[in-house]
Amino acid sequence: MQTVIYADHAATSCLSPTAYQAMLPYLTTQYANPSTLYTLARDPQKALLKARETIASCIGAEPNEIYFTSGGTEADNWALLGTAFRHLPKTGRIITSTIEHHAILHTCDFLQRIGFTVEKLPVDKYGICHPASLAQALQQDALLVSIMLANNEIGTIEPIAELATIAHQHGVFFHTDAVQATGHLPIDVQALGVDMLSASAHKFNGPKGIGFLYLRHGVPLEPLLHGGAQETNMRAGTENVANIVGMSVALAEHMKNLAQETTYLQQLTTNLLQHLQAYKLDFIVNGARSKLPGSLSLSFNGIDGEMLLHRLDLMGIAVATGSACNSQDTIISHVLTAIDVPADYAHGTIRITLGMDNTLEQMQVLANAINKIITK
Ligand code: PLP
Repeated sequence: MQTVIYADHAATSCLSPTAYQAMLPYLTTQYANPSTLYTLARDPQKALLKARETIASCIGAEPNEIYFTSGGTEADNWALLGTAFRHLPKTGRIITSTIEHHAILHTCDFLQRIGFTVEKLPVDKYGICHPASLAQALQQDALLVSIMLANNEIGTIEPIAELATIAHQHGVFFHTDAVQATGHLPIDVQALGVDMLSASAHKFNGPKGIGFLYLRHGVPLEPLLHGGAQETNMRAGTENVANIVGMSVALAEHMKNLAQETTYLQQLTTNLLQHLQAYKLDFIVNGARSKLPGSLSLSFNGIDGEMLLHRLDLMGIAVATGSACNSQDTIISHVLTAIDVPADYAHGTIRITLGMDNTLEQMQVLANAINKIITK
């Protein structure tokens, strides 16, 4: 069956037609390598400059503080490993939270294996990482604090400006994984006070396989990729000009329409919740009140979330789950575990993340489908 309702925009989003059009010349006629010296390279070179300026202006940065990467995973790896490697042969301590994406958590696991110490701060039942617990953790020396701007499972927005201030009071650099937030929340790196920020284009209707790391002037970071002189010797490899252009156009488009998009997505989630409540289903809404627009993590009592996902899929509706079954057991995600969702509910969790291509009518269809499956 063909998917009729796509409600998994936090996993990825479709390419914006405007971004697609802007990319086309760099996939066809304007194929020159921007590092070459002849006339054919002028247009791709200019396109790179313009894309860097556009992205910088969307987040309040300077163009030369933007470094293109292959996506959010690389940007996250780079922030952590690049900071840690700067200190070798000495090791040190990295502070993060229990609800980060695996791009951060698994990188921390690797750093632990090579001798670094990692401390994961707890979050409260809404998924908020409290400044007081960071202040406490910073009683001991650290190299870096990395806390996400918005969580990919429950949509909770973290108090990044406060957390970054505390890190700086202790002389420690601050990175934020803004992969889910970029393009969906206003972002100003000056107001946030972060030293590094990761983003990924396919989460805001840009192409897949491209992202960027914002790196504040003067913040020391070791390159991960060695080779050519691209990205001012910080990230070797021929630039993916088409993807970079597509990313900048998609981000600018979102930032231009941010207020309308936020209002619309909030209207959709409110509407969906009203429909579900009208069916008198027993569920809880996970996460804080202050959430990513369009993001809903719902836990249904006594239901198997993976079953719900597959049944919805059969009805042409794509959502994500917060638990996965293996042959013996249901494994609850680390985020749901960290916020202490009661087990009866946690097993029945689905994540619905809406986008501008969803409609109010779809909210009724989605609620109706969930009700049908659960009450059967
Ligand atoms: N960080 C967060 C919070 C994410 O949600 C994701 C992707 O889901 C990533 C990092 C990884 O980004 P990418 O898919 O661009 O590698």
